Amino acid sequence: TAPSELRMVGGYLNKQLPPSLGVPEIAFLGRSNVGKSSLLNRLVTKAAGDSARVGKTPGATASVNLYALLGPSKGGNSLKSKGPSTAEGKPILGFADLPGFGYAKLSKETKESVEEAAERYLGKRRELALGILLVDSRRIPSEDDRVVLAALFDMGVPIIVVATKSDKLKANEIEPAMRNIREGLGLPDGQPLRVSGVTGEGVKELWQIILDACET
Ligand code: GDP
Repeated sequence: TAPSELRMVGGYLNKQLPPSLGVPEIAFLGRSNVGKSSLLNRLVTKAAGDSARVGKTPGATASVNLYALLGPSKGGNSLKSKGPSTAEGKPILGFADLPGFGYAKLSKETKESVEEAAERYLGKRRELALGILLVDSRRIPSEDDRVVLAALFDMGVPIIVVATKSDKLKANEIEPAMRNIREGLGLPDGQPLRVSGVTGEGVKELWQIILDACET
């Protein structure tokens, strides 16, 4: 069976929204180095099997980097019956990375155009099924995190907060760290979801949350 593949559709910086893939999209938000690419890798591997490949993220600043998770070009699809449609070699899910939204240290002019376009994506994108805000397990949420979360809430984007690099916490550090994040961001019980791109903790749960969001 040919592997599924995560392919870059394009990076978008202007006022245009990316072309529609005709499938639900999941937006990733968080400051750089928070563990976004590692988590995305884990998720795609989970969804598409061990042979899934993830393309390298381009270094350039874009408002919206859109990726398509393509079904395997031959044979079955491990997304099973539940969830997004499963046409062979066709997009089954979109992942949107919004690197400039809230976190990028940019010049005022660049920041305005980058944020404006990302905001347009978040506010207007019909395909958007879920926003995933990544925060580091070991850190107190920043003002940027709070602003991003509030903006998503205002735009009516369904959102889950995940605490990354959970493997770095010792057993006795887990509860206080999660409480710091929960209280710092005003999250409901049960959030944030602890995830690790290294051990795979929380990835199965996150994938299920993604599938559920795609169905509604
Ligand atoms: P991004 O900039 O948000 O895409 O972050 P990356 O996924 O590139 O990760 C940034 C750094 O953190 C890299 O050195 C990774 O190896 C490390 N990292 C990412 N995820 C994890 C994790 O779950 N556990 C640990 N221990 N390190 C991680």
